[in-house]
Amino acid sequence: MIEILDLHKSFGSLEVLKGVDLSLEHGKVLVIIGPSGSGKTTLLRCFNLLEIPDQGSVSLADVKINFTDAKRIDQKSMLALRRKTGMVFQSYNLFPHMTALGNVMEGQITVQKRTKEEARKRALALLDKVGLADKADSYPHQLSGGQQQRVAIARAMAVEPEVLLFDEPTSALDPELVGEVLKVIKQLAREGMTMVIVTHEMKFAADVADRIILMDDGLILEQGSPQEVLEHPRNPRALQFLNRLN
Ligand code: ADP
Repeated sequence: MIEILDLHKSFGSLEVLKGVDLSLEHGKVLVIIGPSGSGKTTLLRCFNLLEIPDQGSVSLADVKINFTDAKRIDQKSMLALRRKTGMVFQSYNLFPHMTALGNVMEGQITVQKRTKEEARKRALALLDKVGLADKADSYPHQLSGGQQQRVAIARAMAVEPEVLLFDEPTSALDPELVGEVLKVIKQLAREGMTMVIVTHEMKFAADVADRIILMDDGLILEQGSPQEVLEHPRNPRALQFLNRLN
């Protein structure tokens, strides 16, 4: 379903991804953990080409792009790959001038060319799914951070992506609001949504992940089941990182 091979990305002279390989099956949840600055967000952003890799390849369903020969990357494939992903950002990034309903309708109308009526119906169902049926007409500033993030999840789902990408979805939230967002993500996992999640919430990672990768300095140090990575890491630097959290 998703395959990434030998991915490299630099910002100027800073090499942030130094050759990352990973794969994920349809319906599974991959959680990315690791120290700050290790390249987790950059890797996630390479999945939907918010960052363009310098080298390596990204495959998602039937789209495969090899970045090693920049001249041969075609824009159509890039657009096709982007459309197969939905992204949930740390800081929600809702459109401030649109209601919750408007936010969840927007991509359906502009990207998927659904009629307003269809988009509205689907948006209401999704808001209901994330527990916000009664907030459809509220603007982002009238909602708590946890509610805004749940709208952002509904919006990402609305365009029916093959995979949902989450970049530290709870790290901007007050502690008492974290649970309501994690609950929605866990529900999606139970329903078989394919997801890639960058998070610092280790208990949540252990609960929701089928696979975990632990990154350090632009490389994957450990990958495996939550038990393998969190309880029996083989790499001393991975052990050091996990011990610091406890
Ligand atoms: P993490 O998510 O693990 O904290 P990031 O992928 O955000 O790591 O960042 C890895 C490194 O890349 C950091 O040193 C960060 O400062 C740098 N970096 C990330 N994005 C950019 C950018 N757009 N321009 C320059 N440097 C960046």
